[in-house]
Amino acid sequence: MNKISKRLASLEQFPDQLQTLIKSLVAQQNFSGYFSADQVKQLCQLGTNHQQLLRLLIPLAQTYSIAPLSEFYVGAAALSASGAIYLGANMELPPQNLGQTIHAEQSAISHTWHHGESSITLLAVSATPCGHCRQFMNELPQANQLEILLPDQQSIQLSQLLPHSFGPSDLAVADRLMKSAPYALNKSTSDPLLNAAINAAQQSYSPYSNSPSGIALKTKRAIYQGRYAENCAYNPSLSPLQSALIAVHLANDNFCDITEAVLVESKSRQISQLAISQNILSELGDIDLIHYAI
Ligand SMILES: [Zn+2]
Repeated sequence: MNKISKRLASLEQFPDQLQTLIKSLVAQQNFSGYFSADQVKQLCQLGTNHQQLLRLLIPLAQTYSIAPLSEFYVGAAALSASGAIYLGANMELPPQNLGQTIHAEQSAISHTWHHGESSITLLAVSATPCGHCRQFMNELPQANQLEILLPDQQSIQLSQLLPHSFGPSDLAVADRLMKSAPYALNKSTSDPLLNAAINAAQQSYSPYSNSPSGIALKTKRAIYQGRYAENCAYNPSLSPLQSALIAVHLANDNFCDITEAVLVESKSRQISQLAISQNILSELGDIDLIHYAI
């Protein structure tokens, strides 16, 4: 079954009155794993609400899962404050170590953030969020009020899933993921790939190590950005390459079509994304990574 047929088959649970519209949106050539606020509104007008819609979209999100090791296909769908819905899925990247695995919640959050959104109000997921994801989500604005929809259960707030939590305020950080001021990293260039990487680094979130970074990947079809997203507990941080790979995959593009990669970091960085990014890119297809410290 090809990708599109698999995605359309995942929509069979939609009520009849919604199925024609949702299938026509997903079948579009440029469908990139999200529904605009207008599309969500149209779907809701046909007789559903945000919670039901997010739950119905979980099987579609699961079709994006890359899980060759676990064969545990996790899908997530996030509703942004603007009313759009963004999908996400887990991605295992063997032969990289398990620490490089991207979780579905991270994928949906990164996807939402990359579209210029500044908060998430509801997040549905196909399995109960693991501890890693609860910690990752705790970095979001108003994290304790974030509502999580679990399969076949009432919605639950993140604060109930993560009591006695450790968060940014424990390290006296007022910034939050998706809502921090851009970094003043600048370099004059007419190269669109470098420009994209600079922009990604400017928008990245690194309040703990103060080491902003961004990556841009070029495929035959497009340029994709990846922003570094740090966490107060350090380990659930998402690297710029991980976030760029999420963008490539959810846009229906292929890792094997990546031809060029640029990493931009701050000159004054305390930590670097260079070695791990080079390693992963060379495994994905012998892709050279050009590095700039600005
Ligand atoms: Zn997780």
